[in-house]
Amino acid sequence: MCPATLRAPVAPSLRRIPPLGGRSAPGYRSYMRPAALNPFFAPLQALPGVGPKTGKAFDRLLGQNGAQARCLDALFHLPHGYIDRRSRPKLAQAERDCVVTVKVRVAEHRPPAGRGGRGPYRVLVEDETGDAQLVFFKANHEWIEKSLPLGAQRWVSGRLELWDGRLQMVHPDRILDDEALNRLPPLEPQYGLTEGLYQRNVQKAVEAALARAPELPEWADPALARQRKWPGFLESLRALHAPDDPKALDPRAPARQRLAYDELLASQLALVMVRARMKKLGGRATKAPGALARKIEDALPFTLTGAQQTAIAQIRADLESEERMLRLVQGDVGSGKTLVALLAMAHVVEAGRQAAMMAPTEILARQHFERLAPLCDGAGVRLALLTGRDKAAERKATLAALAQGEIDVVVGTHALFQETVAFRDLGLAVVDEQHRFGVHQRLALGDKGEAVDVLVMTATPIPRTLVLTYFGDMDVSTLREKPAGRTPIDTRATPLERLDEAVQGVGRAIEAGKRVYWVCPLVEENEDLDLAAAQERYDMLRQFFGARVGLVHGQMKGRDKDAAMAAFQRGETQILVATTVIEVGVDVPEASIMVIEHAERFGLAQLHQLRGRVGRGSERSSCLLLYKAPLGEVAKARLEIMRETEDGFRIAEEDLRLRGEGEVLGARQSGAPGFRLAQLDVHSDLLAVARDDAQLIFAKDPQLTSERGRALRALLYLFGRDEAAKLLRAG
Ligand code: ADP
Ligand code: MG
Repeated sequence: MCPATLRAPVAPSLRRIPPLGGRSAPGYRSYMRPAALNPFFAPLQALPGVGPKTGKAFDRLLGQNGAQARCLDALFHLPHGYIDRRSRPKLAQAERDCVVTVKVRVAEHRPPAGRGGRGPYRVLVEDETGDAQLVFFKANHEWIEKSLPLGAQRWVSGRLELWDGRLQMVHPDRILDDEALNRLPPLEPQYGLTEGLYQRNVQKAVEAALARAPELPEWADPALARQRKWPGFLESLRALHAPDDPKALDPRAPARQRLAYDELLASQLALVMVRARMKKLGGRATKAPGALARKIEDALPFTLTGAQQTAIAQIRADLESEERMLRLVQGDVGSGKTLVALLAMAHVVEAGRQAAMMAPTEILARQHFERLAPLCDGAGVRLALLTGRDKAAERKATLAALAQGEIDVVVGTHALFQETVAFRDLGLAVVDEQHRFGVHQRLALGDKGEAVDVLVMTATPIPRTLVLTYFGDMDVSTLREKPAGRTPIDTRATPLERLDEAVQGVGRAIEAGKRVYWVCPLVEENEDLDLAAAQERYDMLRQFFGARVGLVHGQMKGRDKDAAMAAFQRGETQILVATTVIEVGVDVPEASIMVIEHAERFGLAQLHQLRGRVGRGSERSSCLLLYKAPLGEVAKARLEIMRETEDGFRIAEEDLRLRGEGEVLGARQSGAPGFRLAQLDVHSDLLAVARDDAQLIFAKDPQLTSERGRALRALLYLFGRDEAAKLLRAG
């Protein structure tokens, strides 16, 4: 036994981590950033032409995690297309239903008839091959007369269509004289917008940001860049925002590839660095004969699955080795990860050390505690719960017991680590992540000097490509096999118009003693609206089924939430209406029916997680996906896949395919960093290259002090990998 008194390994660094879903802590991001990068990080509002009002709109559109939008964010906001104004045909030859730029003479003004007449203002224009009408609705007459003086030659640019046998252009994008035309970019980028922003605003902001962006030293490997014909970083941004070639946006185009690569390289380099740092901090060999784990195992009413046994063997080997463990256990909901974690903790406890298990929510922490308690009791493992809601006296006692070593295993929320919790000798930290914690928190865990082994559990089956992306070299144990005796879940999709039938079905089910989850949709990223929807459904179901209906949502007080969950667990309520708070791993084995309203609004990963709440007991379970018709193509494909399979890994792969993006980890809920420039479906080959490159760089120049190394420091900051950059010595 080691008598040393150790602090919780993560407390100080977690304090720098932004709270879940919150803003980043001040000072964290700007840590040691080279001044040369300042123009990239300047607020967009500081640019000429961006006022407070458009500034706010930009913040909404581009701000990262609720922060102010910066020049960099505008530069990384790639256009989704271009308007090609290079085609300048005569009217007769101009292609219909296309954006064209034609030179015309203004022949006639036709304001709406009568006083205050309604209808459009028309302007007849012509060239030597024919004529056309420019059409303006609700137009400012003065402005039209000024821009299109009778008899003048003008270039007009816009979509030319045939309407009622005549050529017309409604609201031309541009009306220009020769001089102005020469200033117009031949290819005009089109951007994603938000309310309060026009294309012009974004175009101007991007232009201004580009003009201010300083040239940076090249960080890409010269041989690679040459071989792939990659332009430099800034040149690539220019190629996309101010292109000569409309193909610039093709994901295979060199500039696009280059930027994707930069982003992937930054992430891979950060992972390699943080990981190496953790390994270097070293571990301690935690050896135990395994009697305690065996005692727990023997008390189980079932035998471990092969996958569980393999995972435990791998973890045990890690714990016993001198190296620090950094392992991910991934497995579908219900695959038995919690048990694996418990046996790992038992190993550490048997060796005379302590273990901590961090859950993402209060509900989950409590549930872990309640489920572990009987197993721990039976084996003589002293277990405690520590959450933000403990009474002061209780809390003090728990903290003292932890410091004294009178508690072996503590389960808690992140409060466990945010406060100064002292352990007598912490040997293992388990993070039950359920994709709620971001990469920062995860990395921060090992960022301390103490030899704490780290086990991360994730219920999101992560496709191979993404494991690499998010976890780098983390060792992975996969629980693909489910415990025996589970019956498949009967999954159906029904349009919402048949809500009545669904309610009747639920009524019959609860008469038969069953328990039902009824999940209400994410209306928007707006908790109030979500809540209103759940409340409304609750009220409606109450009318039918009275006190047998319960409600739980994210804005309830912790104690009320627990009470609602407990009532459902005990069967006092049989229908639990919920917002997605139940998504994170609540276990009520008696629940056998899952109704998901507006299923079309959920992502595949979410639907899968939700469905995983049922089918945990031996009873036949079912899942009803209520959707609003008509379904879009992707939504239809999603529901189809849900009906076809329960294999979380397959669902994750399909999810990745359907989204074509690295959003699988539930970026929407957790703010997990997705990629801004790289698209994992088309750039996954670059990911492997970036990974090799990162390892090579790190092997040669771990402190990034060479010329290329210094350039790479800038790369880390540009892509928000400050957590890695701050591991470097200043200079
Ligand atoms: P996860 O954490 O992966 O969602 P849990 O560890 O919560 O899964 O396990 C889900 C349920 O399955 C629990 O009730 C647990 O007791 C049970 N369980 C775990 N392993 C087995 C097994 N090998 N055989 C049967 N049931 C198991
Ligand atoms: Mg679990």
